[in-house]
Amino acid sequence: MNELVRTQLYPWQLSDWEQLRQYQNNNTIPHALLITGKEGLAKFSLAALWAKTLLCETILPGSLSDTHTMACGHCPSCELFQAGTHPDYLCVEPSESGKAIKVDQIRDVVKFVSLTRTRSNIRVIIINPAEAMNVNAANSLLKTLEEPPENTVLILLSSNNHSLPATIHSRCQHMSISSIKLSELRSWLAENGEHSFDELDLALSIAENVPLKAQFYLDSSIYAVNKDLLTDWQLLALGQAKPSTITEKWLKQPDNLPIKLVYTWVVDMIRYHSTVINEIDDIEREIFYHKNNQQLINLAGSIPLKRLFGMYDKVIDILKLQHTSLNKQLQLESLLIQWSLIAQSK
Ligand SMILES: [Zn+2]
Repeated sequence: MNELVRTQLYPWQLSDWEQLRQYQNNNTIPHALLITGKEGLAKFSLAALWAKTLLCETILPGSLSDTHTMACGHCPSCELFQAGTHPDYLCVEPSESGKAIKVDQIRDVVKFVSLTRTRSNIRVIIINPAEAMNVNAANSLLKTLEEPPENTVLILLSSNNHSLPATIHSRCQHMSISSIKLSELRSWLAENGEHSFDELDLALSIAENVPLKAQFYLDSSIYAVNKDLLTDWQLLALGQAKPSTITEKWLKQPDNLPIKLVYTWVVDMIRYHSTVINEIDDIEREIFYHKNNQQLINLAGSIPLKRLFGMYDKVIDILKLQHTSLNKQLQLESLLIQWSLIAQSK
C-alpha cells in the first residue's frame, strides 16, 4: 500500500502517536525530530501520517483536540498530500534503495525552507533514511538544523542512528519507536490472514519479531518456501542435485530470501551441535529459528562443527555483499558449491 495514503496507525504506534499529537496540541513541535527504530516498524508511515495531520486544514494548532485525532483525509490540504503534491511538504529519499542521499537533494531542502509557505501554517520535511545522507549532504543540512526556520519541522528517520554524525544527533530531539509485545504482534498478524501456528512461528523467528518483516514473510508463503528450499539444500548435501540448477531455481525468490534462509539453517545447525553436548531446556530452544526441525537436526549431525563454522563465514560474507552490484547468481552458486563440498567430504 502507498504509505502516503495510509490512514490508520499500526497497533504498536499508538503511544508514539499520542506523543506526536501532544507536541502539536501543546505547540511544542520540535524543529528537528529524529525518529529511530528497527526497519520494519513502519517509521515512515507514522511520520507521513503526522506530516499530513500537521498540514490538515481541519485541525488547528494548539486546539487541544483529542490526541487520537488524525488528518481528516478530505480537506484540500489532505487531498494535495495524498496526491503527493502538497506545496508545504517535502520528502527526501535516495533515488534507489541502498543508494546515498546526495548533497543536491539537501540543497533542495535548504531552498525549500527559504520559500514562503503557500497554504499551511507549517512546513514539513521528511528525510528517509537519515543515515543515507553522505558526508556532504549531512554537512549542508547542519546550518538548517542550527538556525531552524520558523514553523518548519524536519523529521529524520533512522534504523541505524549510530551511523549518523554526532553533529546531526545533537541538533535533533529524539524519539525511539516503541516495540510491540509478542502476544499483540501474533494477534495482529493473525487478523491479517489465516496462518497456522507453525507458519506464524517461523515468520516471527526469521523476522526477529519485527512486525512488517514478519508480515512480508507470511505474504511470501515462508513456510512452504522454507520446506521446499530446505529439501534442495538436503539434496545438495547428498550429491543428488547440481548447485547450478538449484541456483537458477532459488534466484526466482524475492528479496534474497534463500540467502536469509540459509543463514538461519546454518546458525541452527551450529546450535544443534551444542545441544548434543549440553542438555537444553525449552527456554533455550526459543533461540532456534526452526525449532525441532528434524530435517535440519539430521543434516547438522552429519557435518562436523568446524565445517559448519566455515559455512557460516561464507554466508556472512555474502550477506554483506547483498547491497552491492556484485553478480547475485555467482554469489549464490559459490555458496551452494561450498555447501555441497563440505557436506560430502569425508
Ligand atoms: Zn484534512
